[in-house]
Amino acid sequence: MGSLMVPRQGLSTGIAVRHTVVNMAETDVTRMSTDYADNELELFRKTMDLIVDSDNGTASSTDILNCADSLQTKKLKKRETEHVLNRLVQDKWLNEKNGDYSLSTRCIMEMEQYIRMLYQDQVKVCHICHNVALQCQMCENPTCGIKIHTPCVARYFKGRTDPRCPACEDFWPHEIPGNNSETQSAAKENTAPTPRSTAQTRRTRRS
Ligand SMILES: [Zn+2]
Ligand SMILES: [Zn+2]
Repeated sequence: MGSLMVPRQGLSTGIAVRHTVVNMAETDVTRMSTDYADNELELFRKTMDLIVDSDNGTASSTDILNCADSLQTKKLKKRETEHVLNRLVQDKWLNEKNGDYSLSTRCIMEMEQYIRMLYQDQVKVCHICHNVALQCQMCENPTCGIKIHTPCVARYFKGRTDPRCPACEDFWPHEIPGNNSETQSAAKENTAPTPRSTAQTRRTRRS
């Protein structure tokens, strides 16, 4: 129970005073540390580091495999690493999409205190729900820069044709997930090259 150990102490003391829901979380984190070997937990920690450090809340399998080679507890071979990653996905600690890994909603919920304590100011917090936000959009106004979870973005800006930052009122320039109204796609076509022409250019350049 190596790498999760040191902060885990803080986690349990920080969490013990809170209500039962969080205590349940503690048992889950504890269960995790009995389910996984030291080096597997260290790999998970490193994956969390990569994810928190990233702009989009994901870590590529390549980067994780590189970490596996420099574990302090015990190195993991490529195949072992892939096996651990699969288990972490199966146990619903991680999500995987096209070789990119992100923390599952369950993981963020249950490890919220731990993540906040471990990464402190480095961690992004959602302006809408005030929870840890790893996969989020950010206001592009440099004096503002608030973050909003992708799901909170979808809910907050739902059906709005002129999405504006809830903090500084600047235009919200990002794609609103799940907002497929005609105005949205029309606006996109006006500002950016159509996906087809970009794809064609790329294809021509590559061949
Ligand atoms: Zn949120
Ligand atoms: Zn703003």
